[in-house]
Amino acid sequence: MIPINNLIIRKIYRKIKEYDKIVIARHIGPDPDAIASQIALRDSIRLTFPNKKCVAIGLSVSKFKYYGILDKIDHEDYKNCLLIVLDVPNLPRVDGIENLKYREILKIDHHPAEDIKGNVDWTDETSCSTCQLITELILNSPLKIDTKIAGNLYLGIVSDSDRFLLPYTTNKTFRIVQELISKSKLDFTSLYNYLYDRSLDEVRFQGYLATNMKVTENGLGYLIIPAEKIKEYNVDLATPSNLINNFNYIREVLVWTFISEDAKNKIYKVSIRSHGPIINTTASKYNGGGHKYASGARITTKEDVDKFIQDLDNVCEEYKRATISNLK
Ligand code: AMP
Repeated sequence: MIPINNLIIRKIYRKIKEYDKIVIARHIGPDPDAIASQIALRDSIRLTFPNKKCVAIGLSVSKFKYYGILDKIDHEDYKNCLLIVLDVPNLPRVDGIENLKYREILKIDHHPAEDIKGNVDWTDETSCSTCQLITELILNSPLKIDTKIAGNLYLGIVSDSDRFLLPYTTNKTFRIVQELISKSKLDFTSLYNYLYDRSLDEVRFQGYLATNMKVTENGLGYLIIPAEKIKEYNVDLATPSNLINNFNYIREVLVWTFISEDAKNKIYKVSIRSHGPIINTTASKYNGGGHKYASGARITTKEDVDKFIQDLDNVCEEYKRATISNLK
């Protein structure tokens, strides 16, 4: 039996039942976990309560259209709604809620807590993904599920756990996925194309990243990617963060980061991964945050980029020193 978070699941279900108007939002620059959790929960609420007005908002991303279409709304129509915030702990990064006059927030997330405190709040850092939490909610409440909802949840879990590879993947993840697949009779292997289909340009760009990444003595892999390179390879600013997990398990690299120049917005968009040192504390010093081993940041000047690289290198050095002294 899966240990069930009964109390919080009952509270969430009651809150959803209470409202006729529900708006579901997630973070800016969405990834498959954010989009899939949002659309799966919206579709499950619609299936269970056909008379409620339930929408999923935020900027559309064309490569994620498989998951479902997001809703365009007039905020006036959703005055006093329940706002459900998924996969994001801080208000400034919630996409599309400016001018929305919601009455209460229901938050479900697996990131470390920040400024959003939901009136009902399910923050569980031990979950590999927000989709894992939504699956647990749906499977253990009267919320309904169909094959499309199950497929979205499955893809969100697979994507955020990097195919059950990252350390947040647990026994519970597998048990929830097993129940999801058996209940919905999901043909899950047929779905991978929606996650892993990519262009030859992207593969060639990965070659550029691998060839040009610098690695310090302390095990920091880093690359500042000029805007021209993004253009030259015909990729976009989301591509480095889509590819960064492919650089795991390189023997010489403890922490790795791609710093992409966003010429239009005059910032550097930063993705960071680690297989040892904790990196979200460094990310939070540079207008960022995220998980202990998978974080992001936004940096405005080249000087700060250099400082950031030095800070991360120090984190690697300290980690190495501590690991060696623990072995003695
Ligand atoms: P990414 O490298 O873009 O896949 O992001 C990795 C993790 O860091 C995700 O959980 C993001 O939500 C989080 N993250 C990325 N950028 C930021 C930021 N500027 N502020 C806070 N969290 C971020």
